[in-house]
Amino acid sequence: MKKGICILGATGSIGVSTLDVVARHSHLYKVIALTANTNIVDLYEQCLVHHPEVVVVVNEAKAEEFKVQLKDSPVSDIEVLSGVKALEHVATLDNVDSVMAAIVGAAGLLPSLAAAKAGKTILLANKEALVMSGTIFMQAVTDSGAQLLPIDSEHNAIFQCMPAAYVSGMQAKGVRRILLTASGGPFRSMPIEQMRDVTPAQAVAHPNWDMGRKISVDSATMMNKGLEMIEACLLFDMQPEQIQIVIHPQSVIHSMVDYVDGTVLAQMGNPDMRIPIAYSLAWPERFDSGVAPLDIFKVARMDFEEPNLQRFPCLRLAYQAIHAGGIMPTVLNAANEIAVEAFLNEQLRFTDIAVIIEHTMAKFEATTADTLELVLAADAEARVVANHLIVALSH
Ligand code: NAD
Ligand code: MG
Repeated sequence: MKKGICILGATGSIGVSTLDVVARHSHLYKVIALTANTNIVDLYEQCLVHHPEVVVVVNEAKAEEFKVQLKDSPVSDIEVLSGVKALEHVATLDNVDSVMAAIVGAAGLLPSLAAAKAGKTILLANKEALVMSGTIFMQAVTDSGAQLLPIDSEHNAIFQCMPAAYVSGMQAKGVRRILLTASGGPFRSMPIEQMRDVTPAQAVAHPNWDMGRKISVDSATMMNKGLEMIEACLLFDMQPEQIQIVIHPQSVIHSMVDYVDGTVLAQMGNPDMRIPIAYSLAWPERFDSGVAPLDIFKVARMDFEEPNLQRFPCLRLAYQAIHAGGIMPTVLNAANEIAVEAFLNEQLRFTDIAVIIEHTMAKFEATTADTLELVLAADAEARVVANHLIVALSH
């Protein structure tokens, strides 16, 4: 029997890589559902190749346009849905076994959570969803018996280095620390005083990874690593003090697990997201990902440094948020999404991203975040505050 798969965010960088891997193993998978926000051009091509049963185009006008386009096409039988509720619907369809959660940002929370509650196998790329909802998400996974497999390359590496039969959310026996690697992004060695003039084009040009725009900016500010530190605490039931961020510019080691006996296990490979995607799709087995074998002689050397919190204040803010607890990680994430968007729209300087997040966090108390309503309210309020601060800063 083929496994049914739903890809939330099919037209994005992770979505495209997932379809690439799925196409290599089409005898094992049936693509049931694909979703996009507005990009119906790429979605149409994907429909021709993968022929899903249903697609969601969140934007209603684009969905109408897409229906017209499908009418006289070879794939006219595909059902087209629109609106955010439709994302939850396709993520929980009976014939869907695995859900690739690859929407960017908070927009991915409700469908990913719906998949978790429905007991699906969740391939989680959408780290913002986990960071903002924290224990609520992990509890939903535990309660339904869903399988949570991390797609983020670092967390996938950690998962691979965990003891046999490890389950996400459990504290693994004998693990002392996690060494969470980071490339350091494009500005690792730029003189700090030049960072305020960084342009969006410079920030999205990552030295090792080809990713969507938002995560590329997060990598440049290192907020990505801050979010990943929080993600690791949740996925592996660790304290922030047990996570050491390590700058490793070659991006060959994707993270390490340090055991109490002094053993350190690392997962290595070329920096290509098809590796963690293929691992999670094939889990607990393995199959070809399409990625070239690692040429260890070409790698030749590997460097490791401690991160500089003065250069990367977003890292400090992420530690501050997780220590404060409650709604603070939600506020951190929301303020970051707003600030990054403003930076990409050239309304904010690169170095002011951290300023906006810090000032937004200062406006909130770390009240409890134990219901979804509280999380969504904190997310919405933090966005309003961050937007106000951006307007105030530009005047
Ligand atoms: P992307 O910008 O390339 O793609 C985003 C996808 O989400 C698109 O399909 C888009 O249509 C959809 N989308 C955007 N806004 C939406 C909305 N409001 N409602 C519904 N759908 C929406 O992003 P990406 O780089 O593929 O990243 C996706 C997620 O995976 C992010 O959470 C990112 O942090 C995580 N991730 C990405 C990489 C990578 O290499 N790209 C690595 C690790 C983790
Ligand atoms: Mg990562």
